[in-house]
Amino acid sequence: MSPPADAQHVVIIGAGITGLTAAYRLLTITTADDYLGTPVSVTVIESDSEVGGKIRSSPFAGIIEIDEGADAYLMRVPQAVALSRELGLGLEMTNPTTGHAAVMRKKLHRIPEGLMLGVPTGMNSLAKSGLISWRGKIRAAMEPILPSSGSHDDCVGTFIRQRFGKEVQQFLVDPLVGSIYAADTQNFSLAMVPQLADLAEGRSALLTARARKKSSPARQTPIFETPRGGLTVLTRALQQAIRSMGGSIVTDTKVEKVSRRHKAYLIVTDSQTHPEIIADSMIVTSPAGASATMLSELDEQVSTSLATTDYASVVMVTVKTQETEIASFRGLSGYLVAKPDQERVTAVSFGSNKWAHWQPNDGSMILRVSLGRDGAATHDLIHEWEDERLVTQVIDEISRHTQTAITADISRVTRWPNAFPQYRPGHLAHVEKIERSLTHSSPGVFIAGANMRGIGIPACVAQGENSAKSVVEFLAHLRD
Ligand SMILES: Cc1cc2nc3c(=O)[nH]c(=O)nc-3n(C[C@H](O)[C@H](O)[C@H](O)COP(=O)(O)OP(=O)(O)OC[C@H]3O[C@@H](n4cnc5c(N)ncnc54)[C@H](O)[C@@H]3O)c2cc1C
Repeated sequence: MSPPADAQHVVIIGAGITGLTAAYRLLTITTADDYLGTPVSVTVIESDSEVGGKIRSSPFAGIIEIDEGADAYLMRVPQAVALSRELGLGLEMTNPTTGHAAVMRKKLHRIPEGLMLGVPTGMNSLAKSGLISWRGKIRAAMEPILPSSGSHDDCVGTFIRQRFGKEVQQFLVDPLVGSIYAADTQNFSLAMVPQLADLAEGRSALLTARARKKSSPARQTPIFETPRGGLTVLTRALQQAIRSMGGSIVTDTKVEKVSRRHKAYLIVTDSQTHPEIIADSMIVTSPAGASATMLSELDEQVSTSLATTDYASVVMVTVKTQETEIASFRGLSGYLVAKPDQERVTAVSFGSNKWAHWQPNDGSMILRVSLGRDGAATHDLIHEWEDERLVTQVIDEISRHTQTAITADISRVTRWPNAFPQYRPGHLAHVEKIERSLTHSSPGVFIAGANMRGIGIPACVAQGENSAKSVVEFLAHLRD
């Protein structure tokens, strides 16, 4: 199916989950029988040789696909679940076999039950945990009787310390939030962690968290899901659907510059076959640094703002080890290392405990280990380490944490430089400023993706969907 010659052309820059979802949604809307607008042709331009961006998987230890980046998405935020069902992937999905994790603080402590992103919803299970001292527990227990914090800084760490004290922040909320965003919660926007921002609305965060937990319809259902064949099943399904609806995806093509050409936009790329492309509307989903460079001529203010976005780099080491050596950790999905105990490793996922389809048939276990985070003095240097040194570091640290001498039978190293955008306090205002400026300077150009309004896959899917709808509205307005 190819679009008619008079079609309006929409270009999407970046074929990560945000860009692919935007292209897919644009095509489902504009090829539907009830669509009354001018036909639309859609081109996705991707600098890499593959689609998927931060979603990548490859065979490991005899298992067909093991994720190298994201390995699952939250079900509570509904957009990714809905998209995968729409793509017919419902039967491919599986859920973790265990949700119990631990925090490493001198030794492994199971995370107490009933927390909401590290925030206590009661004191019973916290009281039994060795993770927090008695002094820390008493301080946390005072939270419901504290007066409202009033207007507070837009900072996760400050808010949690004010309400629950230093230990809940350091040993519960920071490891949990930090593991999602590779963040230092002392320098991270509260508004960008919606579950915690919501708790800041009421007088007591503990009582609000308890009420939310009780009323949550999803209490008994799984929290995460993923396709058994790796998350690339989702991005490949999107790729296939886009092509089958007449969209084109051009890989190995880097967008270098965008400028105005009358009412349209001229996109200059490094490709010999597509050096210049004209678009009536565009959705930019590349990481902030790349977007800043390509948009510098179009809107200097937007380019400058994007260029200030900080990123954290991580390395993901996947290891196959003999089960017997680490069998006592059966039942745990993994552990997070609290900052005072961190060397290089920030989190360890016991992959074969977490996912039934990641169990090698020789009885060994697959671990996925994260290194690096925002604010770690050494985080950028880790990328320069040889693979062998990284694997040795990981094995040494895990052996110390678990007090079990483990060895790596097989290993794989994936470097993710500048992969996690850091939402500094005031991030939402920064995003709104970018969006406002773009509306005036470059109508029909939209920015979406992890560096804007949410890093998780569901948030990226939501941004892809919303930007597609904004393009459809813009094109209708252009016609009138
Ligand atoms: C190690 C790791 C683990 C994670 N784990 C999870 C998880 O378990 N669950 C979860 O929900 N989220 C997780 N995330 C976060 C989530 O995967 C990402 O936030 C999300 O995939 C980002 O999607 P995106 O489309 O916004 O950006 P990206 O995936 O970064 O896509 C942007 C695309 O733009 C392309 N591009 C860049 N420059 C140009 C250019 N000049 N021209 C053309 N194309 C360009 C890039 O090549 C890339 O493909 C994880 C992330 C990482 C790195």
